[in-house]
Amino acid sequence: MAFRFVPLGVGDAFSARYYSTCLALVLARDGVEAHEDVWLVDCPHPIQKMLAEAGRASAEPLEPARVRGVLLTHLHADHCSGLEGLAYWMRFYEQRKLELVTHPEVLARLWEGHLAAGMEQLMPSVGAPFQRMSLEDYFDVIPLRDEGPVQVGGMSIECRRTIHHIPTYAMRVRVGERTLGHSADTAFDPALIEWLGAADLVVHETNHGTHTPYGKLAALPPATRAKMRLVHYPDEFDVGSSVIEALREGRVYAV
Ligand SMILES: [Zn+2]
Repeated sequence: MAFRFVPLGVGDAFSARYYSTCLALVLARDGVEAHEDVWLVDCPHPIQKMLAEAGRASAEPLEPARVRGVLLTHLHADHCSGLEGLAYWMRFYEQRKLELVTHPEVLARLWEGHLAAGMEQLMPSVGAPFQRMSLEDYFDVIPLRDEGPVQVGGMSIECRRTIHHIPTYAMRVRVGERTLGHSADTAFDPALIEWLGAADLVVHETNHGTHTPYGKLAALPPATRAKMRLVHYPDEFDVGSSVIEALREGRVYAV
């Protein structure tokens, strides 16, 4: 299985059953089969525990040291609350930066609006002067482009804005001949579903309120549903009776 993924979480922001939706993509590093990297799609807290549990359940090597970077869809906490801890872990345990792939609209608020309060200064030792820190001290940032794909780590990544409260980006991630589509958080959007449909496998959200109702997805043509998988579902969602396969935490899926 060349390009595969393990869901670390499949739930929503309010879940008492599941971790927040997050995928660990496993793929050959820059096309070299002998080296495999892990890339996260979103990074909620507690990401270390999520990696450890999904690693044990899937028998995939999901040690945090193998995580090369994060594809970030948007700044709601259930999608990005693990970034601070993972970036600190990379700095102190691995002495490297986390690669961060996201759209400039998401990037615009990431530091000042989210991370700076907890990361803008470090105390190198007790009594030493504080060290001022910036986003670039922790992350190698790779901006996505509206105009076309961005190449990173053996992936070709395209993005498309979704219908959500804050700037949020769906993605198509191509590795070799296989493409994974990911809706991110979105209202029901037939144009987005058509765009994602160019992928071999589509991971789509479903939930209440301004999210995508399950009924709308269940009414899609059978061919569209056949390559769709669900995440971000509410705790009471009946996984067993869903006409679209719901992803499960800690299982391995081939793209
Ligand atoms: Zn959201």
